Amino acid sequence: QAKKDGKNTYHYYDKNLDKASEDKFKLLQLLRPAINQKQFKLYYQPMISLADEKITTVEALLRWPQPDGGFITPDQFIPLAESTGLISELGRWVIQQACLFCARHRSLGHSRLRVAVNLSVMQFKDGQLQHIVEKALHEAQIPADALELELTESLLIDETEQIQKQLNSLSDLGVTIAIDDFGTGYSNLGYLRNFNASKLKIDRSFIIGLGTAVDDEPLVEAIINMAKSLGLETVAEGIENKATLHKLLSMGCSVGQGYYWSKPVPEEELGALLNKSNSSI
Ligand code: C2E
Ligand code: MG
Ligand code: MG
Ligand code: MG
Repeated sequence: QAKKDGKNTYHYYDKNLDKASEDKFKLLQLLRPAINQKQFKLYYQPMISLADEKITTVEALLRWPQPDGGFITPDQFIPLAESTGLISELGRWVIQQACLFCARHRSLGHSRLRVAVNLSVMQFKDGQLQHIVEKALHEAQIPADALELELTESLLIDETEQIQKQLNSLSDLGVTIAIDDFGTGYSNLGYLRNFNASKLKIDRSFIIGLGTAVDDEPLVEAIINMAKSLGLETVAEGIENKATLHKLLSMGCSVGQGYYWSKPVPEEELGALLNKSNSSI
């Protein structure tokens, strides 16, 4: 059916598409004020050194709390924030809050704690990222090597010279660059030689079957070996059981993250996890 919109143009709608874009539109109406009113919350999920099962780094993950007590998940609102440009402001807030979080726990005795933040490609567009990062580190009074920035493979593949420059200067500053969701992007690995990443996070989809489905074993082992020869540390995402942990250890993977240790939790709970697991940090 066609709808006249008053400007003498006609739009043709698929009913399902209509519903989906209506939902998106509603969410978008809520997103702007939510950012202004700082309604978002960071949850934190530990990354664990597999050899001694101690926390090395904590990843900050956005949550959008709702009046009913539930959350809108990042998979729902991040794409929306990206497509509207709102991610720049939200992303800056995440960097600031994550650095302050790290500083709090460092001063509580976890003096080598590091924090990881996810970045969207949009955050490289306005050339402000370096400044935002330096300011956040300065305000939190933590060194640059306390911060890790996680970038998805697709961001790195689309990488322009402009992104490359910014990544290099962040890396010169001492910030760690990690490749997130490795293995889900494209097959062209050429981007790996172009910039200073020091960590590679193997996507959960490859980890989930380890210890049960044998098929993914050679692939995961090959990724770990490739990372090693490139001088990258490997992190396995989505470890949910002991069998997977042991399999990864035997393959030479050094760090893991997953429900086996902890889901992403609010800061209060993370503090308890740190105290329990980490005399060394
Ligand atoms: P990601 O960076 O790959 O984060 C890991 C996701 O896997 C998280 O989902 C985490 O809860 C989930 N996960 C971790 N361990 C396990 C496990 O053992 N089993 C299962 N089933 N899941 C596990 P979450 O928090 O829903 O975040 C989804 C994605 O949203 C993130 O994927 C990241 O790409 C994006 N995201 C989250 N926060 C931010 C942010 O502040 N900025 C940007 N740009 N993206 C963000
Ligand atoms: Mg991540
Ligand atoms: Mg990931
Ligand atoms: Mg992911």
